[in-house]
Amino acid sequence: MAAALRDAERDAGRLPARGDFVIRGAYVVTMDPALGDRPGADVLLRDGEILAIGNDLAAEQAEAISGRGMMLLPGFVDTHWHLWNSFMRGLIGDGPGRDYFAVKRGLAPFYRPVDFYRAARLALAEAIHSGITTVHNWDHNLRGPDDADANILAQLDMGIRGRFSYGCPDNFARDRLMDLADLERFRTQWTPAATDGRITLGVALRGPFRTGPDIYRREWDAARKASLPITMHCDRCMREAGCCRCDIVTMKDKGLLGPDLQIVHAVHATPADIEAMAVTGTHLSLSPQTEMRTMGFPKVVEMLAAGVLVSLSIDTTATPSNADMFSQMRVTLSTETARIENAGLTPRRMLKMATLDGARDLGLADTTGSITPGKRADLILVRMHDLNMAPCGDPVDVLVLSGLPQNVDTVIVDGRVLKRSGMLTAVEPEQIAADTLDSVKSILEAAGWEVPPALLAS
Ligand SMILES: [Zn+2]
Repeated sequence: MAAALRDAERDAGRLPARGDFVIRGAYVVTMDPALGDRPGADVLLRDGEILAIGNDLAAEQAEAISGRGMMLLPGFVDTHWHLWNSFMRGLIGDGPGRDYFAVKRGLAPFYRPVDFYRAARLALAEAIHSGITTVHNWDHNLRGPDDADANILAQLDMGIRGRFSYGCPDNFARDRLMDLADLERFRTQWTPAATDGRITLGVALRGPFRTGPDIYRREWDAARKASLPITMHCDRCMREAGCCRCDIVTMKDKGLLGPDLQIVHAVHATPADIEAMAVTGTHLSLSPQTEMRTMGFPKVVEMLAAGVLVSLSIDTTATPSNADMFSQMRVTLSTETARIENAGLTPRRMLKMATLDGARDLGLADTTGSITPGKRADLILVRMHDLNMAPCGDPVDVLVLSGLPQNVDTVIVDGRVLKRSGMLTAVEPEQIAADTLDSVKSILEAAGWEVPPALLAS
């Protein structure tokens, strides 16, 4: 098979080597229930693995990184993000034909493989800048084999950990089956060895409310036969013709639920729906900021009370959010506190949702999500004495209630330092912005849409 991209179209070969590091003197928030917080501790990393946590660790061979004045945390874990439509930021708005779904539908057919690569790279660069070390790339505009490969190449070249979920083209007909032959090709090609051990695979399915009965059953069976985890949007489909309420109880009756299924949104879920998810071990990914823009209030408290595994996601940077897990945690906490008396949520509970529970959702709890010896080194250092953080009496409270992406000083993924002293190490933001502009103009022109004057002037 021909390569999805020419070498000149990639930003490859720039990742720093995995190093031996000792991070000294940080306020370590392990998120490991057995280890707790360790003020002033050292953390030793070797070849991408967390080796030890302790005081005054002997580590003569390791490069020392000072953590003084900073907290050290596991990197944030996103569990649902449409990287491909990050180009639509600034194109979506409130005027006629400018809502999220209209713009997405209008531009989706005109992406080339290089555009998918660049859109993923833009989103992932912002993710790393913001301290997100694991991303679930949820591709619901997969127009051909090269598009899928271009996405994987972006995830590889950026050094981030994550999952890629293989989907259909945007607005795919209800009676058309996804390309199961290419899904099999994809699964056998992108093995752990081919993905640097950093990218796992899954399937993004439309399910019983967006396809006919024969279609969803065949797609579901193919995913389960291949042991691929499934993810599915479940919402009221308010703006989609021919779609109805996503009835989770009915899905349980059909045998579709289970611990291999991640449901996204479910803001409309009834108590019976929530119970169906809980008893089957079905997971939930929430993106509170986009949900409140287009669907309604996320049901965090009810889902947690029932025992459903809940994690947080960016969904899209097109509108109304960005790659900012701090604000996802904060907005969720405030909204639930306003919606429900005695909601019982705390900043630390939100941080667990954004780290360890996200890792559990993606089947990566043995790999990432906490600072635990034996896990991979996905860590962030956050400055505690920046103006918006000081005084940092309770570091986790301040992180969730006041933190911003610019407080993230250092980001390490799989033992590679991808951000240091506030600067990305493996990519040039100016080049990413220039490539983004080039791609967006190309897509708009191919679609016959007017290029906004602000982009023309750039
Ligand atoms: Zn989504």
